[in-house]
Amino acid sequence: MSMVFETVSVFPGVFDAYLGASIMGRAQKAGIATFAHHDLRDWTHDRHRTVDDAPFGGGQGMLMKPAPIFEAVEDVVASRPEKARVMFFSPVGEPYTQRCAERLAEEERLVFVCGRYEGMDERCYSLADDVFSLGDYVLTGGELAALVVIDSVVRLLPGALGDSMSAVDESFSPSGLLEYAQYTRPASFRGMDVPEVLLSGDHAKVDAWRRKNAIVRTAEWRPDLLASAELDDGERAFADGLLNKEGGCSL
Ligand code: SAH
Repeated sequence: MSMVFETVSVFPGVFDAYLGASIMGRAQKAGIATFAHHDLRDWTHDRHRTVDDAPFGGGQGMLMKPAPIFEAVEDVVASRPEKARVMFFSPVGEPYTQRCAERLAEEERLVFVCGRYEGMDERCYSLADDVFSLGDYVLTGGELAALVVIDSVVRLLPGALGDSMSAVDESFSPSGLLEYAQYTRPASFRGMDVPEVLLSGDHAKVDAWRRKNAIVRTAEWRPDLLASAELDDGERAFADGLLNKEGGCSL
């Protein structure tokens, strides 16, 4: 059954180029994912198709007003039989992670409501099952956020990547570590050599090197992830040793 992804925004035309290409386009053709994009202005009732208004209490910029968003979400949700999970975006939201993507990939249907301008009337968020933040920075609109979430969920759907193993052994999943370093030919390039063990053909040694490298890289780039990573006792001691070196990670 195809998972359904729908967006509600004032720029419904921005999605097709990205979602039509590569893995997303193939998932759509293969019937793994279905995409539909709705124009929020279709739920306005004035000649100018107005979706924004000035904030109470003053201040700069405009806010998206509640009526078009409420009507759009209600109509879109009711327009198909599948149960919809409704998603909003804001810097004031739950940080979006691979765990969120894994959880969302279990749903039948996701509806993304994309903000613009200075954001939305706070009452709009009462429609949300989730409010996600992509990170600690401010975008001009929620469309990119919706594309990021759609991309990260579609690639988890069975068959989307072709090789079903390729979504299993990656950064964050399943161990909570960053991915190990990878190399392709040539073995020596501009004075930089691929680690010897990767050329050895010894799969057990390669696996051990990759696991250790993942721990080392996580300690170096994202020490915050190590606390919740799934490590055995020996690995935990190794990781603690990396973190406890004076001046933080010394790698
Ligand atoms: N005034 C708001 C920002 C509004 S930006 C504030 O300071 O919190 C306009 C829209 O862009 C938002 O409604 C949201 O849909 C999107 N957006 C901006 N930054 C985002 C982020 N970090 N994560 C997810 N969506 C974001």
